[in-house]
Amino acid sequence: MADGITGVVTLSPESGERVRGVAAGLGVDHALDEITRPELMEARRTGDIALVHSWELVTAVDGPGTRMTMFMSGCPLRCQYCHNPDTMEMKTGTLERVDDVVTRIKRYKPIFRASGGGLTISGGEPLFQIAFTRRVLKEVHDAGIHTTIDTSGFLGSRLRDEDLDNIDLVLMDVKSGDEETYQRVTRRQLQPTLDFGDRLNRIGKPVWIRFVLVPGLTDSAENVENVASIVERWKSNVERVEVLPFHNMGKDKWEGLDMTYHLADTKPPRPEDVEKVRDVFRAKGLEVY
Ligand code: SF4
Repeated sequence: MADGITGVVTLSPESGERVRGVAAGLGVDHALDEITRPELMEARRTGDIALVHSWELVTAVDGPGTRMTMFMSGCPLRCQYCHNPDTMEMKTGTLERVDDVVTRIKRYKPIFRASGGGLTISGGEPLFQIAFTRRVLKEVHDAGIHTTIDTSGFLGSRLRDEDLDNIDLVLMDVKSGDEETYQRVTRRQLQPTLDFGDRLNRIGKPVWIRFVLVPGLTDSAENVENVASIVERWKSNVERVEVLPFHNMGKDKWEGLDMTYHLADTKPPRPEDVEKVRDVFRAKGLEVY
């Protein structure tokens, strides 16, 4: 598995000269034919082809209006509460060509226009297969469709300034407010997310922040205050904060993948406790949902 930094990935199956395009996936019109491994490596480098985990047409989540959400495979983080652990490794999904993906998204333009919606690229981590994501964002944005990425911010430095011009809204998770807790939650560092948030703030990019409240992991008063203080400094471009109560609906997926799920005994937070945390953000003048 790639570390998410070098961009080196292993696709399954890991042996053999030829790679099949189909593993699993939703909403796929047609499968990519078999290609050779060198061809695939080159296509991944240029962003012609990527491993797409799945698709969903949703309303009122992942951005404004009706969204076509494309979930990309691959993520450098290992969040304890991840409810899509099958997207972490580059092993599940469908190899798709950028042109096919863009054509499919454009078909929904009337729905996007009517609902004020658009495309959301999520994951996994949308910036993990950056060359492909970059091209989809550009072509879809050029077609006049609203674009959003749903990211942890950890790989934000992969986006060039011109890429940011093709993104209308960034949904960014701030998973904890200090290095130690962040590493316990994700096994990665907080600083790249802070740097990316600062950069988005400097250019005035619209951002929605998400914070998942996990009893016993992210819910200490100190951690909540730290997260709220971080977001407060981006107040000028953060349009809303979503405090999301932890749920353990991902448990079965973790067990199905033979991965240890550490939150099996953790209960969702009480509604009144979620509301108290929302108030901490509200007290800083932030719009909270
Ligand atoms: S960043 Fe998202 S996809 Fe990646 S491990 Fe965390 S919750 Fe899962």
